[in-house]
Amino acid sequence: RVAYVNGQYVPHSQAAVHIEDRGYQFSDGVYEVCEIWKGHIVDMGAHLDRLDRSLRELQIKAPMSRAALSHVMKEVISLNRVKEGIIYMQVTRGVAVRDHYFPSDDTPPSVVMTAKSINSQKLDQIAAKGVGVITVEENRWDRVDIKTVGLLPNVLAKQKAKVAGAREAWFVDKDGLVTEGGSTNAWIILSNGTLVTRPANHGILKGITRAGVLKLAEMNGLSVEERGFSIDEAKSAKEAFITSASGIVMPVVKIDETILGDGKPGPIVQDLRKSFHDASELIKLE
Ligand code: PMP
Repeated sequence: RVAYVNGQYVPHSQAAVHIEDRGYQFSDGVYEVCEIWKGHIVDMGAHLDRLDRSLRELQIKAPMSRAALSHVMKEVISLNRVKEGIIYMQVTRGVAVRDHYFPSDDTPPSVVMTAKSINSQKLDQIAAKGVGVITVEENRWDRVDIKTVGLLPNVLAKQKAKVAGAREAWFVDKDGLVTEGGSTNAWIILSNGTLVTRPANHGILKGITRAGVLKLAEMNGLSVEERGFSIDEAKSAKEAFITSASGIVMPVVKIDETILGDGKPGPIVQDLRKSFHDASELIKLE
């Protein structure tokens, strides 16, 4: 495997950043994950737009032009011969002697990228069965719309889910409404077929896969309500699912101890999963 680190392609096992990288010391950085599907990068433009926004919100300089970034992405994917998988990219405020204040303006941001293959058959098998989620108290900061590498609450929530035999943890805010999962957006489907997901304000990450499903729903004439939903409403929903670039549309069949419907993925979510890429921008890798 090969990784990109600050201008160089290096063996993955030797890829490293300095101990005084601000990402390492302060989580002072942002990231993106894009899906690679059948030799295409999925929704690359939208991911790079979101990366720009995250950087702007944190006043981190863009590390390179968009053209250069997409060139490196394609290089990393092809060097790793990934046809189905994900690409990870991270930009931090760079390396400087530890001090909370921003480093001097001439400090270059650090950029790393990796790409890895994902066993899509295995993922499809998981999707065919559906997954469980647990619910946990929302304990993150109020700017989770910025895709920072500060993911400790997400890590702890997802580990709690794993120990409980679930795949994801849904954060629940002080009003009792689900915000999102540790690394996914959360959706339910009402008995009349309406999709419900929380509006993308500062309380959730505005998922690119979420945007894809909204577009797909529109294409397919499904009705959508962008509003918060409670755990009780979710537990009595007909279907539910989670979305992310790494798992696209993943059916949820269990919330805490409650089995949804007959405990199997429902027809609407299965259809959304199957046709998801109909609504994506696909950038072909040669
Ligand atoms: N919410 C959180 C907290 C996430 O980490 C992710 C995945 N990066 C998502 C939602 C889904 O976003 P996307 O569809 O862009 O992968």
